[in-house]
Amino acid sequence: MPNKRLRIFTATLVTETNTFSPIPTGAKAFDRSRAQSDVASMSAWREAGERDGNTVIESIVAIAQPAGPTVRAVYEGLRDELLEDLRRALPVDVMLLYLHGAMVADGYDDCEGDVLQRARAIAGERTVIGAELDLHSHLTATMLANANAIVAYKEYPHTDIVDRARDLYRICVDAANGRTRPVMAVYDCKIVGMFPTTAQPLRALVDEMSARECDGILSLSLIHGFPWGDVPEAGVKMLAIADGDAALARRTAEEFGQRFWAMRREALLNATPLDEALDAALATPGGPVVLADVADNAGGGAPGDSTYLLRALLERGIDSVATGTYYDPIAVDACFEAGVGATIDLRFGGKLGTASGDPIDARVEVMRLLDAHEQDYMDDSRPVLFGRSAWIRTRGIDVVLVSARTQVFAPNAFTGLGITLDDKKLIVVKSSHHFWGKFAPMAKRVIHVSAPGALTVDFAAIGYRRRDLHYWPRIDTEL
Ligand SMILES: [Zn+2]
Repeated sequence: MPNKRLRIFTATLVTETNTFSPIPTGAKAFDRSRAQSDVASMSAWREAGERDGNTVIESIVAIAQPAGPTVRAVYEGLRDELLEDLRRALPVDVMLLYLHGAMVADGYDDCEGDVLQRARAIAGERTVIGAELDLHSHLTATMLANANAIVAYKEYPHTDIVDRARDLYRICVDAANGRTRPVMAVYDCKIVGMFPTTAQPLRALVDEMSARECDGILSLSLIHGFPWGDVPEAGVKMLAIADGDAALARRTAEEFGQRFWAMRREALLNATPLDEALDAALATPGGPVVLADVADNAGGGAPGDSTYLLRALLERGIDSVATGTYYDPIAVDACFEAGVGATIDLRFGGKLGTASGDPIDARVEVMRLLDAHEQDYMDDSRPVLFGRSAWIRTRGIDVVLVSARTQVFAPNAFTGLGITLDDKKLIVVKSSHHFWGKFAPMAKRVIHVSAPGALTVDFAAIGYRRRDLHYWPRIDTEL
């Protein structure tokens, strides 16, 4: 069948909502300065579309750092802007949306489902609608009912965003050309947790998912869920897309979902309680040990200023440590006022909410100041900005204070300010797992720490009010 010249509509609306976070996500949080070409998935869609002689119409790019629920008027404003662009672009053969899948706004548990449903109503049944999601998403019935194809990242850390964008393009364009008929099926694993794909046995399962994308299976996605989003449809789900064969999709989703269920204990992020983690780190000879403060990962909506881990280091008199990054623009201001070389009594961290712990009061030396500090992103595709930042030192601990809230991805979060890392006993990063690619090679050992904070990794104890409590590990039997 010859290819039609297709009209392809693309847009980006991304944030991950931690419904336990005290930080509202408002208009300022959504970075509207980013160009369509800055979003890797939209670039991939443009490139593929132009290569195939299709017309690509690009709508909004709106991305916010994860935090608490989005303000209602802000969400509705972005959504309506996207939908208005869609109306103007009609007729549209294919719509490709780069979404997160765990976005919650005041009055909307399922922003992505809401966008897809309204888009379907505008575009009509003949438009092929596809969405790319983060695997830390809530796959909902509304999303499934209104999209033809949903593809999630397979990798955590997320190193395959562009590959999955290309998968989605191929699936949707083939469908629009009448070559395939995607049908989706889901198996609900009834699990809550975090599952790095860098370790076995999950590594092998993910590889096998890719290998099975043939013979009538168009795509397999393991939705890991986002544990700190308290919405009714949260949790781990296996999604299969088959070509026209609903029974095959169902069977395959069930098969892989049950295999994940069988490996849930080994696949779960292995986090060590704080004191035990410090003991283990100090007992490791030769070279820095990287400790991940999972619970204060700004990338999961946490405040990024919690002090539990730092306080434990100070109380135990541990030195030769680099730790960051602490979101505290007020403390950064004080350091700029004092100037490099000054020694001051500084109160820092512990400001944003109960998950942050108490502030630290310490005598610190201001080591270095930068007006525009930044770090590399996981794939080096763009810089991640910290804004005005300070390197301070107290009792042998080097601390990075920043003015923009983000997790740590790369060593130049420290070295960019002049902090050396190879000579440290401990490097403490506020991140869950996205630090892995760039820190693991320099680490003698990596330990994920279970400390208090907004992203508690005690998954059985998360204080859900909305989602049902019938999930593993809360219920530790066959479900
Ligand atoms: Zn994610």
